[in-house]
Amino acid sequence: MLWRWRDACIRFMAGRYGGDRLNTALIGVYFIFWLVSLFVRDVLWGLAIRLLGVAILAVVFYRMLSRNIAKRQAENSWFLGVWYGMKDWFRRQKIRVRDAKRWRYRRCPYCKANLRLPIRRGRRTVTCARCHSPFKAFFL
Ligand SMILES: [Zn+2]
Repeated sequence: MLWRWRDACIRFMAGRYGGDRLNTALIGVYFIFWLVSLFVRDVLWGLAIRLLGVAILAVVFYRMLSRNIAKRQAENSWFLGVWYGMKDWFRRQKIRVRDAKRWRYRRCPYCKANLRLPIRRGRRTVTCARCHSPFKAFFL
């Protein structure tokens, strides 16, 4: 009985996309919406937030059951790019805060390299370590 149900599930999901990181993230967003809706006093706003959550869940199911696997993979890889970009940005901010006493970070206006410079206060000319172009930088 249980086996037949399991077989039916497998047959139903055959050729369909299933889960990925984007879907997991969307389910997380759904739970955040649901949690927020618990604390919203206004009935209409609470309902609107809940409906938005249900819409997100509908997208999750649509993506899971989709047969257009290439498109779903493209969406997922776009999402992963954004996700890792954000993670990297936060990691860099953490390093900046950690190094704030000794170093300042400036972007070279010519080659866009991120430069870590020793703090010497005031306006001064800096030479880029990558492209060797001089540019003016201000240090507080
Ligand atoms: Zn440069």
